[in-house]
Amino acid sequence: LSERLSGVFDRLTKQGALSEDDVKTALREVRVALLEADVSLPVAREFIKKVQDQATGQAVTKSITPGQQVVKIVHDALVDTLTGDVDPGELKIDNPPAPILMVGLQGSGKTTTTAKLAKRLKERENKRVLMASLDVNRPAAMEQLEILGRQIGVDTLPIVKGEDPVAIAKRAKTQAALGGYDVYMLDTAGRLHIDQELIQQAADVRDVANPRETLLVVDGLTGQDAVNVATEFDDKIGVSGVVLTRMDGDGRGGAALSMRAVTGKPIRFVGLGEKMDAIETFEPDRIAGRILGMGDIVSLVEKAQETIEAEQAEKMMKRFQKGQFNMNDLKMQLEQMQKMGGMEGMMGMMPGMGKMAKQVQDAGFDDKIIVRQIALIQSMTKKERANPKLLQASRKKRIAKGSGQEVSDLNKLLKMHRQMGDMMKKMGKMGKGGMLKQAMK
Ligand code: GDP
Ligand code: MG
Repeated sequence: LSERLSGVFDRLTKQGALSEDDVKTALREVRVALLEADVSLPVAREFIKKVQDQATGQAVTKSITPGQQVVKIVHDALVDTLTGDVDPGELKIDNPPAPILMVGLQGSGKTTTTAKLAKRLKERENKRVLMASLDVNRPAAMEQLEILGRQIGVDTLPIVKGEDPVAIAKRAKTQAALGGYDVYMLDTAGRLHIDQELIQQAADVRDVANPRETLLVVDGLTGQDAVNVATEFDDKIGVSGVVLTRMDGDGRGGAALSMRAVTGKPIRFVGLGEKMDAIETFEPDRIAGRILGMGDIVSLVEKAQETIEAEQAEKMMKRFQKGQFNMNDLKMQLEQMQKMGGMEGMMGMMPGMGKMAKQVQDAGFDDKIIVRQIALIQSMTKKERANPKLLQASRKKRIAKGSGQEVSDLNKLLKMHRQMGDMMKKMGKMGKGGMLKQAMK
């Protein structure tokens, strides 16, 4: 129920607000941390500016210094920036055979990642995958994929010497259709540096295959360079996501932020080693912690915020215990119920409340009613909400009319308010560690 408390919590914890100086001082250190993590300079600068505007004036949590508070704000902003609008682990592979194109510089980990993803699709989604190497540049590149395929039990397109990448892509497409594959993956050649020929080759392959996903594989240990690579590939080929490899190393992964900020492309996976299982879907929270390198401060602030929340819950419980349960409280409860999947969902979470939920439901209480009930409360004046005893006939009529409902609807709400008030009182009496406290966690 913590969200429900957050309104109260904001009001009561405003011990002081972050001043511009507080923020500036703290951000100076954050800036160093970002640069040390290999976030590119323009991205770091832009990011700091954004956070500065956002943080100034924000409330400081009790027992936390302004600097610590800023770190937490930065952390949350990082998570926010790193979070894309697609589910990172969900590859678009409907309409079989679905082509997936892998692009990137030489040595970035394309071939390894191709095999890792093929293994994932096979094992987790039960897909039949065909892998094809289009790398005609590097000797033994095709054999490398073939060996990996054998190792993970995924088919590879038979190698035909002397074919060009476009011809191989066409053959892969035909073979995937004929062979009844769900997915075919095209592992392209890379260069040490980006050049026109490489880009042209990838573009030609793209035009033939029309990939559902074009994944750019980038070495997570590279900083500034990664941004240029990503921009170039995205401009010329168009990518649908980024895979960051070598995140098992000691790099701090600033490339993730740079790439996301500059290209706007979602990061989808991270590579965590050479083994075929060493891949995970991208988790913004984890990378944010790594980039910032101030995990202990972040968790310190989180703890302090939790403590304050618990204190607020306790205060609220004491009020309920004394029978102080007004319409504002009820409104908060109703809103929380909406979030938690209705009456049954919420009551189900409180031990011993299942039966009560059923009774309430049998009494004609469903989730659409919650919306109407909130509307009723909104039609009340501040005074009425704080003291529902004021509600006599004429006021009732006004409120019902104001929310487009009948007085009988309002009476039902008032009855429920009384019942819940009684219930809160009882739960409160069960004392510390009782149900209400538990339910508020
Ligand atoms: P490609 O040239 O882009 O196809 O790169 P490869 O897939 O051949 O990978 C180059 C090297 O990097 C190989 O030795 C891989 O085992 C290694 N590699 C790839 N991904 C990772 C990773 O996530 N972590 C580590 N430590 N090594 C990786
Ligand atoms: Mg390769």
